[in-house]
Amino acid sequence: MKLSQMYLRTLREVPNEAEIPSHILLLRTGMIRKLVSGVYGFMPLGLRSYHKIENIIREEMDASGAQEIHMSAIQPAELWQESGRWNAYGPELWRIKDRNGRDFCLGPTHEEIFTDIVRDGVSSYRQMPLMLYQIQTKYRDEARPRFGLIRSREFVMKDCYSFDVDEEGLDRSYKIMYDAYDRIFRRCGLNCRPVEADTGAIGGSNSHEFTAISSVGESEIAYCEHCDMAATVERAECVDAAPQNDVEALPMEEVETPGTKTIEAVADYLHLDTTQTIKALLFVTYDEEGEENGYVAAFVRGDRECNMTKLVNALDIAEHQIAFADEEAMGSATGCVGGFTGPVGLHDCTIVVDSELPGLKNLCAGACKKDHHLINVNYGRDYTGDIVADIKQLKEGDPCPVCGAPVKHARGIEVGQVFKLGTKYSESMHAYYADEKQQEHPIQMGCYGIGVTRTLAAIVEQHHDDDGIIWPVSVAPYHVIITLVKPQDEAQAAAAQKIYDELQAAGVEVLLDDRKERPGVKFKDADLIGIPIRITVGRLASEGKVEYKLRREQDKTEVTIEEAIEQAVALVNAERRG
Ligand code: ATP
Ligand code: MG
Repeated sequence: MKLSQMYLRTLREVPNEAEIPSHILLLRTGMIRKLVSGVYGFMPLGLRSYHKIENIIREEMDASGAQEIHMSAIQPAELWQESGRWNAYGPELWRIKDRNGRDFCLGPTHEEIFTDIVRDGVSSYRQMPLMLYQIQTKYRDEARPRFGLIRSREFVMKDCYSFDVDEEGLDRSYKIMYDAYDRIFRRCGLNCRPVEADTGAIGGSNSHEFTAISSVGESEIAYCEHCDMAATVERAECVDAAPQNDVEALPMEEVETPGTKTIEAVADYLHLDTTQTIKALLFVTYDEEGEENGYVAAFVRGDRECNMTKLVNALDIAEHQIAFADEEAMGSATGCVGGFTGPVGLHDCTIVVDSELPGLKNLCAGACKKDHHLINVNYGRDYTGDIVADIKQLKEGDPCPVCGAPVKHARGIEVGQVFKLGTKYSESMHAYYADEKQQEHPIQMGCYGIGVTRTLAAIVEQHHDDDGIIWPVSVAPYHVIITLVKPQDEAQAAAAQKIYDELQAAGVEVLLDDRKERPGVKFKDADLIGIPIRITVGRLASEGKVEYKLRREQDKTEVTIEEAIEQAVALVNAERRG
């Protein structure tokens, strides 16, 4: 492609709304175009890279035995009502009505549709294992669309679903997909870490997220360098402090603690360590229709943080069904007092106690009375929980739940997730098969998603410098850019054309920058759009010489035209598959 003919609009300035490198660079290179918040289109260069990612995914899915289909984005509400998710999914579900008032949604994911396909078409054990996938546009009305393609409201997902007769079959399908994901992200040039994950609104028993390591990522992961524990912080188990069985329980006492509204303040005032205190967190919950339906008081050791994912799992509600409570309203209903709430004497609310608190003795907690705390508070004798569960956040440096070594934290971008759904959807939507003895069983399902457009952004996040993107060859929009310094110089133009023709004949994808622009502009654009190989045709063209440079390296070399072609072809052939 000749750049003089290409629709290309690069920006020198950083667009206002863009905060992170991938968003800034994808806009500055003109690869994507914003329509409204969270809704983007793909321009020629962007679409080419997008297609490369799609093709890598398609090749690996096909090689894994999955079959491609394509379903509609519009889904009837009835299917979602059957699975129970019409209400459970929350405000991210993009609900629409047709002219007759019938409810539909724009699919945020397709479990219901794929379950509907197999309950129609699969009735015998002989038809499984079966894996179906699609690469298709999804809609989620995200509360905070941001970071360009990373969290958008319209995005492309590859979603695959597996159908098996039993759990062993599901385990096999899950492993096949897990391994395919490893290959896909490696081929895309991503440094990706699979971590254990929470199953969220999708449901099911077992899950891994594939996290592209990046400081701007929204996922926080915990991992151990001494064993292979790696999990999202949402999911990571946190080891309880050792129970203090041989410590004697002292009599509980009320003490005056004026103005000590925080854990640090009360610990300081009473000369205690924060590990000897109990922290309260107050919430209101909502039913599936969005009506307030109760209060929750959650208690963790004073130095811990409450993990919201674990809390909603313990309460068996969805994340959008809980919010911080208005302390005054909650106070009159339950007896809590802002800054001085403890588990003793609370009423009319669900009390959730972190799993380590029952083992700890003589703690300090709010007295539910202004400017007062209780000391020597003990579980069982002075308070109990309606729910006792691990609701605490695993912090950097805490002991690894597997081997005890101090854990590390890192940030990353979730580019894919695999789930064992089990029979959640096949039971609620009645997708059953008959075994050899004509006995009916629910189909065992797995689901496997990749954010295709988010992957594009994650690649840029991991492959850029101050001058622009540095595309890995496997996903670059073009492999080579020929920078023709002076298009009106005949020797230069002829040399550039020769390189262009020969590289194309060898199957290399080439851009020829024949625009009537200053050389400086051309070099800047070449660096910005990040084409892996640059061949500069300038003054020395009349002697058969050009300059050869890789975007990822600083060095330039002067080579003959033939050498430049040879080196480019060799590099592209070695790296184009990723
Ligand atoms: P997140 O936690 O980031 O909101 P999710 O866990 O809800 O994502 P899944 O339901 O697992 O997402 O969807 C599968 C994949 O789709 C994700 O791993 C991610 O790569 C991609 N994805 C999800 N939401 C978005 C979005 N708003 N914009 C772009 N890609 C997305
Ligand atoms: Mg996910």
